[in-house]
Amino acid sequence: MTESFCNVALPVPLRTTFTYSIPESLRAQVQPGSRVLVPFRKKSLVGVVVEMTATVPEGTKIREIQRAIDRIPALTPKLLELGQWIATYYLAPIGEVFRAMLPPVTEISTKRQIVLTEAGRTLAEKLKAATTLSDLDGAENEFLQKLLEKKGQLALGLGSKLGLPPEALQRLQRRGYIEMRETVQGRKRKMQRVVAWKGNAESASKSGEREERIRALLETERGPLPMPQLLKLAQVSRALIDRLLRDGLLESWQEPIDPVEDPFDTGYTPPAHTLNETQESAFTAIRARFELGEFGVQLLHGVTGSGKTEVYLRSVQDTLARGKTAIILVPEIALTLWIGRQCRAWFGARFEGVAVLHSALRDVERAQEWWRVRTGAARVVVGTRSAIFAPLEDVGLVIVDEEQENSYKQEETPRYHGRDVAIVRAKLENALALLGSATPALETYHHAVNGKYELLTMASRVENRNLAAVEIVDLRSDFQQTQKANPISQTLHAGIAECLQFQTQALVLINRRGYSWSVLCRSCGASVQCVNCSISMTYHKSRNRLECHYCGSIQSVPKVCPKCESKYVYFFGEGSEHLEERLRKEFPGARIARLDRDTARTKQQYQETLGAFASGALDILVGTQMLAKGHDFQRVTLVGVISADSSLHLPDFRAAERTFQLLTQVAGRAGRGELPGRVLIQTYYPEHYAVQDAVKQDYLSFYERELHFRRMMMYPPFTSLANVIIRDSNLENAIRWSRRLSEYFAPHDGKGLRILGPASAPLARLKKEHRYQFLLKSPRKSLLTKILSAALTFCDANEIPQTAVLVDMDPLTLL
Ligand code: ADP
Ligand code: ZN
Ligand code: ZN
Repeated sequence: MTESFCNVALPVPLRTTFTYSIPESLRAQVQPGSRVLVPFRKKSLVGVVVEMTATVPEGTKIREIQRAIDRIPALTPKLLELGQWIATYYLAPIGEVFRAMLPPVTEISTKRQIVLTEAGRTLAEKLKAATTLSDLDGAENEFLQKLLEKKGQLALGLGSKLGLPPEALQRLQRRGYIEMRETVQGRKRKMQRVVAWKGNAESASKSGEREERIRALLETERGPLPMPQLLKLAQVSRALIDRLLRDGLLESWQEPIDPVEDPFDTGYTPPAHTLNETQESAFTAIRARFELGEFGVQLLHGVTGSGKTEVYLRSVQDTLARGKTAIILVPEIALTLWIGRQCRAWFGARFEGVAVLHSALRDVERAQEWWRVRTGAARVVVGTRSAIFAPLEDVGLVIVDEEQENSYKQEETPRYHGRDVAIVRAKLENALALLGSATPALETYHHAVNGKYELLTMASRVENRNLAAVEIVDLRSDFQQTQKANPISQTLHAGIAECLQFQTQALVLINRRGYSWSVLCRSCGASVQCVNCSISMTYHKSRNRLECHYCGSIQSVPKVCPKCESKYVYFFGEGSEHLEERLRKEFPGARIARLDRDTARTKQQYQETLGAFASGALDILVGTQMLAKGHDFQRVTLVGVISADSSLHLPDFRAAERTFQLLTQVAGRAGRGELPGRVLIQTYYPEHYAVQDAVKQDYLSFYERELHFRRMMMYPPFTSLANVIIRDSNLENAIRWSRRLSEYFAPHDGKGLRILGPASAPLARLKKEHRYQFLLKSPRKSLLTKILSAALTFCDANEIPQTAVLVDMDPLTLL
């Protein structure tokens, strides 16, 4: 490249790129897709080069790139293209899109410092010698003295530790006594010594038993190993290794530290099944698609327990055999570990061929996994949502497991849907997208019915196991009999007792965490609301406080009503914590654990609980949706759902679909082994079709009825939706901007699209911000995009801040 300028996308909420010049010394290194460090306002930011350019915008001062971070561009041309598509389709700032796509920046570290200015130094010295008076207060004076002692520099973090509040720091800064400075340093990657076998087999066996063991490890069993691991596995001393290195039997070199291995990995061999007939015919159809060698989407609709994983793995194997690479997306972290482990056992000779990417990895780990993919060392990627941006080349297959899961949607900018991006990526790569589900999203199934996607069906469970028998427990009649509002009905109680008696296991699902999800005053009817959000606070008994599940704010547990001071404060609506307590009371001898976001704060805790349950060390597992997904427990004979209704009543057009999916998924957790399963669904609303069809586990029936409703109401898949939220902490602003935007929208309403609003959003206040909502509906997606894009330009021109306007294309919730 000869151009000396380039456009860089920066992680700022602005829908534009910025032009920088490339210094002579960096020209060889800076290419489209490279990450670079550039000055932006008073800071340095890492951005990505989108394109080279020979021309510069007139009248602007062009600054220079400070540093090139990558040796090879982090993003491939295809990923650059994908990023542009996301920015356009989801109306997201391009720099924020690329930030979501890129690995964490581990190559450099930034240090923020407080620095004493010349004026500050002079003043501080005079004050020290008491030769002058000033308008500083005691604390400020003390602070300047400390800065002086520390040679005029302090890390920003320390500054606040020294007891000066941020406002005081700002005051000193405004008066020119101190400055904030940012320095960027290269960071060394942590290296380790890796040892490999160099001699021949004879020389080892001649030298002795220990040498032979080392050779076997390094040459046949594991391949080259990091020093500490070698010492541990071979049970030899460092001195011996050093001797063998000197003798030329071993060689060694420095390598960046490898990602931490999955501790459960060692010794795992997955069961090797021969595909049954149903699986075989699905797999044949997938292979036939590969033969075409072109883009396509297939939907693998397989009931729970039909053995989809096995089909995925064969398809990946086939893809690799064709010299291509594959991505497997799963909806949650726990599943990456499980599927990752199977992939490694299948494809990862020496644990190299497979990379696992998810958000719970430490930055360094994630960056290393990412670069293993980028350099071609790993050819299979397993991960959550953002793994769709894995920098593989020659992608042949993209699998999206449980494609209907909401966790594929990112609920912050860029608000993309991982499944939809997967399809676009497959298209760019000329690859096959394989979507798998027992309960496909309505949109997806609709495409399959229309022939846009190819439908593959697996209607029976492996080994002809029966689907679990699902029964409804009508809570109304339970109450009439017992006159008690116990969330554990008599039927459920009896079912659990039976499990305990026959030493099988039970799963009990409840959709809320915490102890009680509402705190009410019996006297005046007030409920305790979050100070930042229009939502009631949840009581957490073990932590003895109220928490907001939306913004995380905390309140102490009120003894009297905060409004009327009556003593009759009452906790209402049971959550998982309460349910666990109740189960312990009702089944004193049982081994019970709870799994929700409170008990499973870390990956470790999560795995421990699931592991304990899988190994039979627990009888009953209580938990939230987390339990519903994908897990394959063999000894579960009973699944209880505490309340099917709670998700039906949300003000959301997807409520029925979500309820149906959840109930079907949990039902799928029962009877997966050789023991038959039973599912009890408790509800006050047994007539609803979402409940009825879930009981029959009849996807098609549900699909037909729900589709009818969507058609009547003009909801997706019959229209496209976009949700626009105007938000600000100042109510006046939020109202004024909404009104202004509605003036822009008004003339477009009715011309190929419907524009509803502005109305107060269902969550009228969230995280201290007031929220107003517009809902746009159109059968033509391109029209929506066009209007919205113009609306954003209108906002810019009318001084409606970009941060106040939130656009959610294809929203999953309208809250
Ligand atoms: P799904 O994802 O469709 O719910 P899984 O892939 O978890 O189902 O498979 C369910 C169980 O069936 C797993 O324990 C798996 O090992 C087993 N399995 C898969 N294929 C076969 C087969 N052909 N024969 C016997 N068991 C199988
Ligand atoms: Zn009250
Ligand atoms: Zn809140």
